[in-house]
Amino acid sequence: MPSYVAAIDQGTTSTRTMLFDHSGRVVASDQREHKQIFPQAGWVEHDAEEIWANVRATAAGALADADITAADVVAVGITNQRETTLVWDRNTGKPVYNAIVWQDTRTDRIITDLGALGGGQERYRDKTGLPLATYFSGPKIKWILDNVDGVRQRAEAGDLLFGNMDTWVLWNMTGGPDGGVHVTDPTNASRTMLMDLDTLSWDEGIAADMGIPLSMLPEIRSSSEKYGKVRERGALGGVPISGILGDQQAATFGQACLSPGEAKNTYGTGNFVLLNTGTDKVMSQNGLLTTVCYKIGSNDTVYALEGSIAVTGSLVQWLRDNLNMISSAAEIERYAKEVDDNGGAYVVPAFSGLFAPYWRSDARGVIVGLTRFVNKGHLARAVLEATAFQSREVIDAMNADSGVPLKSLKVDGGMVVNDLLMQFQADILGVSVIRPVVNETTALGAAYAAGLAIGFWESEEDIRSNWAKDKQWDPTMDDERRDREYRNWKKAVTKTFDWVE
Ligand code: ADP
Repeated sequence: MPSYVAAIDQGTTSTRTMLFDHSGRVVASDQREHKQIFPQAGWVEHDAEEIWANVRATAAGALADADITAADVVAVGITNQRETTLVWDRNTGKPVYNAIVWQDTRTDRIITDLGALGGGQERYRDKTGLPLATYFSGPKIKWILDNVDGVRQRAEAGDLLFGNMDTWVLWNMTGGPDGGVHVTDPTNASRTMLMDLDTLSWDEGIAADMGIPLSMLPEIRSSSEKYGKVRERGALGGVPISGILGDQQAATFGQACLSPGEAKNTYGTGNFVLLNTGTDKVMSQNGLLTTVCYKIGSNDTVYALEGSIAVTGSLVQWLRDNLNMISSAAEIERYAKEVDDNGGAYVVPAFSGLFAPYWRSDARGVIVGLTRFVNKGHLARAVLEATAFQSREVIDAMNADSGVPLKSLKVDGGMVVNDLLMQFQADILGVSVIRPVVNETTALGAAYAAGLAIGFWESEEDIRSNWAKDKQWDPTMDDERRDREYRNWKKAVTKTFDWVE
């Protein structure tokens, strides 16, 4: 009787449940999108109850797709959009406010005020590995406590819980108000700006700065151990939940970047390059984040350097949904192929300010280099190229921090089906770009974490041997053109600065 591991991938635009077999192949999958709520410029929210309904629906859908029952599933892993922040009532299970999404910039003022307490943007860098920025969860919790009526009082009385989406899903799956487990893992906790990277525990001083009661915060456990069982009602009832990894760390794990010096780039809503630095916590001198890569059971913590880019695939969505220039994301490649280059146009999508390596919340997007010559094809190309240029910037930073230039790059995510983009990425980096057979590395990584905890996979060696190459793109662009294009890009980036006062 074959058995499977389920992964719940609670992403920014959708929720998926996937089933994997022992060889790491996808056996079944179900997916539902959820609403993106934009109450005003710079704000992005999700309805957490809609997301929980989608978790249940896709879990049932995936089992039905494979024509199996919970009895055939040996473990469940959870992976999630990181930083997205939810506060809910532990007695009723009701959120007190929508989830505030990682891209949301409403905490701009809170960030400035925290920096003004001393230390500026670097105030919490030594402890947390992070610069002060709107991206992280802690200031989002503070916003909810400060701005939603009666919430601070209820939090101080011990009635409210905080969680990222991993914790929200885990708590509900294990029973909600009726015995739900309030736990997170160090990869998610390392993005709250509240966790000490050395001790993997909540930092009381930072929580006090932000006025966050410690009683709201989940217990930090490892990324791979049994946290509890799915409650008996519903799909997957009775199956142990034994893995949690934030989505980018999960993709790193699923890509088998398990040794120091191995890196991957995930092309989704945003792009995220993670470099495994082993048990060394490398502090960036070049605008990258230091973060937990994974902690498997009682093994030593493995750290990563991360280059986070807020807007890549979502720029393609913007072209589709806001400008109606394309009718589907895939169509962009057709237009981009009609031209040989960008015609001199550059799009810098600083919609949420700029993340790595700049960390400028005052930046806003620009399109530069326009002439009467530029057409739809050039703009389509410039939109795709923006992803590759931004990736080059964070990889340059990584090479500078590590002192060892990357020799090739493993890629995954929704955009890597785009051949033109992948070729341009190899060209602009000057190194090969490699896509694995299983592109669903995020869900796969969570499945691996869950399966390792219960012995379904024995060791990280199993993960390495499951990884297989699907396609490779090698650089063909000459150095002169590569340098000229990249110089132009850098100049375009400077045009985004100082837009927001
Ligand atoms: P996430 O996990 O962040 O929700 P995915 O990995 O599913 O995202 O990737 C979805 C993103 O990929 C979307 O932003 C979409 O615009 C982009 N995308 C999908 N197909 C293509 C394509 N053929 N070319 C370029 N971008 C694409």
